[in-house]
Amino acid sequence: MRLLTYEYQGRRRLGARSGKIIVDLSRADAAIPADMRTFLAGGEPMQEAARRAVDKAAHTLPASEVKVLAPLYDPEKIVCIGLNYLDHAKECNMPIPSEPVLFSKYASAIIAPGDSIVIPRESKKPDYEVELVAVIGKAGRRISEADALAHVAGYTVGHDVSARDYQLEKPQGQWMIGKTFDTFAPIGPEIVTPDELSDPQNLGIRCILNGTVVQKSNTGQLIFNVQQLVAYLSHVFTLKPGDLIFTGTTGGVGMGRSPQLWLKPGDRVVCEVDEVGRLENPVVAE
Ligand code: ZN
Repeated sequence: MRLLTYEYQGRRRLGARSGKIIVDLSRADAAIPADMRTFLAGGEPMQEAARRAVDKAAHTLPASEVKVLAPLYDPEKIVCIGLNYLDHAKECNMPIPSEPVLFSKYASAIIAPGDSIVIPRESKKPDYEVELVAVIGKAGRRISEADALAHVAGYTVGHDVSARDYQLEKPQGQWMIGKTFDTFAPIGPEIVTPDELSDPQNLGIRCILNGTVVQKSNTGQLIFNVQQLVAYLSHVFTLKPGDLIFTGTTGGVGMGRSPQLWLKPGDRVVCEVDEVGRLENPVVAE
């Protein structure tokens, strides 16, 4: 399924898109909540109910009539992985990590496809980062690599917008401050369940800035794959339904270029993962 949150006639709804049609899941089955995180917490029974609703294809509306929102706005955690592609670690002049490098974003940074990325007036070095995002469906602590994928409800596209001056030029190398300005976490448009994907860990991934491809790789190039990340993270904290794991970006970021290339007002950034989706956001000044 391609699960999404959308606004229709002023209300936030949960749906599943098939082609140009959206099935309104909570109208199709009153047991299905209109909220993505609650839906994911319902686990397999809720997914089955949603699949039945999609098969019946009642309570549909044209995708063109809705405003697509971020798939969810209230994850308990947004966990981000740094330096998880070889070419990106090299362009950052950082050693290849022997264990995953973690930082986070707050949910207040989440925006929808089409919403504006707002460059804060203090940052002179805003940068782009396309990422595959794994969405947790089933809670767990100390999840084994073998069980890890059973805890992943699906995948979406994420844009890890990064103010490099805040990330790298503040005291003591505190990355997070540069990563979680408001609007710095565009996600969406859909959470795509694994059965829709040929192989989530072998998909083309790219970032297109004003029509030019600036990042291009394959999710198969991840240093730590999704199973390893789920196992590693969950040895520290319980992963919960709706938690987002930004799995890291590939080479080609603006910081690693010569000359360096920063986001500016008027830009349009497209983040794409094949089969998962296309996430486009304009850039504006604060
Ligand atoms: Zn990143």
